Amino acid sequence: MTTEQYYLKAKTTDEAIQIAMQYPDSFKYLAGGTDLLINKFQGTDETCCLIDITDIKELKQVSTHGKVLRIGALITLDDLKKHDAIVNFFPALLEAAHHAASPVLRKTATIGGNILCENRCSFFNQSEFWRESVGYCLKCEGDVCIATGGKKACFSRFVSDTAPVLISAKAQLEILDVDGIHTIPLESVYTGDGIHPRNLSKTALIQAILLPLDNRYRIIFKKLRPREAVDFSSLSTAVSKDRSGNIRIVLGGIDPKPVVVTGSIHDEMDSLIMQAVKKSRIIDNDYYSRTYRKEMIPVFLRQSFNELEL
Ligand SMILES: Cc1cc2nc3c(=O)[nH]c(=O)nc-3n(C[C@H](O)[C@H](O)[C@H](O)COP(=O)(O)OP(=O)(O)OC[C@H]3O[C@@H](n4cnc5c(N)ncnc54)[C@H](O)[C@@H]3O)c2cc1C
Ligand code: SF4
Repeated sequence: MTTEQYYLKAKTTDEAIQIAMQYPDSFKYLAGGTDLLINKFQGTDETCCLIDITDIKELKQVSTHGKVLRIGALITLDDLKKHDAIVNFFPALLEAAHHAASPVLRKTATIGGNILCENRCSFFNQSEFWRESVGYCLKCEGDVCIATGGKKACFSRFVSDTAPVLISAKAQLEILDVDGIHTIPLESVYTGDGIHPRNLSKTALIQAILLPLDNRYRIIFKKLRPREAVDFSSLSTAVSKDRSGNIRIVLGGIDPKPVVVTGSIHDEMDSLIMQAVKKSRIIDNDYYSRTYRKEMIPVFLRQSFNELEL
């Protein structure tokens, strides 16, 4: 049986919301498509309506408003470097974006799509034939998690490269929904449930990412992956230090959501590292083993602390 597929294009944010309200059960906004379309081809996304938002000009601007830097959701990962405010105040964001995907993909992939890209697992992000041959898991039609040998929870990995850096700088999201515009901390979007990793309403359209300009952050980003391009994160770390000596550690690539640990320059660094390792629910669902990725957390964090002169 074939399900009807719809492709609709919105010219403005209001139009996108209007269309979304007509298809509340089965649609997704389409930005660069570098995550969504691959998932559709692999059969891991069965949305039948795509609302293309790529023509919406208001989502393609970077601007400063007093003490806030506003990055439009449709700015591509490659274009971030064209904006002086990002280059001057958040160089770690450029570095993280530069580590995502590959040069060609970064010309299409947007920052809004990056922070919402789907969680991954080596037992799930496969062809339909492959998933069927291993007996399906909780995230498709199965009833247990294969990666953990039978648990009733999904630990697919949160893999966005830009989100850890953004969260380490306390980024907020500007969201347009049916009831107006809301601003929420980026961190609050992630649920920690590998099957439903985000808690945004279906119609929520990210308009922009907001970063504070009044608290100067130094941020160190690191990423573990088999190859220098194309591979998703096996572990990402972003460590920030602000003017007042507050420290934020954000880990990606290892847990269904970003792992966040906060402290200050007066804390024992080993204790912060231990908290980060303890909070991370790492399982064997990646190219690198669980043990190796766990061992790499203290390595990356110690290197980052040294670079921050802590
Ligand atoms: C080979 C390959 C390697 C990759 N490697 C990496 C990697 O190393 N690191 C990494 O982080 N990613 C990687 N990706 C995933 C992807 O390329 C990026 O995450 C990219 O930034 C996604 O952005 P997009 O604009 O293409 O999003 P899309 O695919 O268009 O959308 C992704 C999701 O976000 C939603 N969405 C997009 N924009 C909005 C919005 N404004 N409001 C509400 N919802 C929205 C979509 O509905 C969809 O659910 C890789 C992809 C491929 C194919
Ligand atoms: S973690 Fe388990 S349930 Fe989740 S996608 Fe992987 S195998 Fe499936």
